[in-house]
Amino acid sequence: MPDAGPDSAPAGALTDARGRTVSYLRLSVTDRCNLRCQYCDSRMRQWLSHKDVLRYEEFLDLMGLGQKLGIGKVRLTGGEPFARRGFMEFVEAARTRFPGLDLRLTTNATLLTPFAPRLAAAGVTRINISLDTLDPATFARITGQDLYHEVRRGLDACLTAGIRVKLNAVAMRGVNDSELAGFIDLARQLPIDVRFIEYMPMGGSEWRPEQVWRAGEILAEARSLAELTPLARDVEVSGPAQMFSIAGGAGRFGLITPLSNHFCGTCNRLRITSGGVLRTCLFSDRVYRLRGALRHPKLGLPAVERILRLASQVKPLGFELLAARRAGERVCATAMSAIGG
Ligand code: SAM
Repeated sequence: MPDAGPDSAPAGALTDARGRTVSYLRLSVTDRCNLRCQYCDSRMRQWLSHKDVLRYEEFLDLMGLGQKLGIGKVRLTGGEPFARRGFMEFVEAARTRFPGLDLRLTTNATLLTPFAPRLAAAGVTRINISLDTLDPATFARITGQDLYHEVRRGLDACLTAGIRVKLNAVAMRGVNDSELAGFIDLARQLPIDVRFIEYMPMGGSEWRPEQVWRAGEILAEARSLAELTPLARDVEVSGPAQMFSIAGGAGRFGLITPLSNHFCGTCNRLRITSGGVLRTCLFSDRVYRLRGALRHPKLGLPAVERILRLASQVKPLGFELLAARRAGERVCATAMSAIGG
């Protein structure tokens, strides 16, 4: 996507001084997850208390405000979204209230299988599933749970229901760097996008620089395993991923490169956590607390709108923050499970 400058942005849209327009909101509906992935979750974490988690009605209000401000795409994530009670009903309520919204999910798919037909009926036609390994024992080691086959059932249920699936694997040296051939075979067999994402130095993880398996190395190996043809970038469909077709394959292969080739110039996202904290950049600990304003009888959504506007104007460039950190340091103090990936 070319940079959408303020000139091309719809009136009232959220823009910044660098010419970026926010059109995509990620809402983390819970900070809780049924998995304990080493790279994502801090075992020392304190869960938010019930009263501090936004109610579904509050998320719907935020979605309504987002729509007014030109946000046409919302991704629901977590923690694990299906771990929150009533999540499916919330998705259906969101669809009823915002029929034209591009509504997507990110999930570990361990709890998804029974909901696939309802998701499809609610017009959720694209789901991201996180799966870092095709080996059940490695899955249990990474996540602390023996639920590999549940994820595979969730994936199959999505395909049966006609939902397009992107399978995201965090690329980790010494963890899944021997599995590229298996993942490419999966993308040959199934009509899915298999994407490797570089392991980011987020808070709460056990990240070490030597664990980063860089996109360039992955691509070189992938090319030795399959005939890959780069596809034109389409941020609306594939986000920041560089996608490749696979000769003779039903699916595609892709790389997401936050470390080796940043995509800050076209970043169009805001994130709101389950506790109502706005983050304008994944790599920044500059946060804006919306919950107090949202719940205040005299402030409410107009105040939240003002905060969204001001915060969007000074949306940081994550690659500058990455470059500025000292060697080996985490780039922000918060775990992805709390931010919402
Ligand atoms: N529970 C859901 C799931 O598993 O997809 C949604 C939340 S999870 C935090 C979202 C995504 O963030 C997952 O794909 C996960 O692999 C990714 N993630 C978490 N920590 C990461 C890190 N340090 N580097 C790269 N990706 C990370």
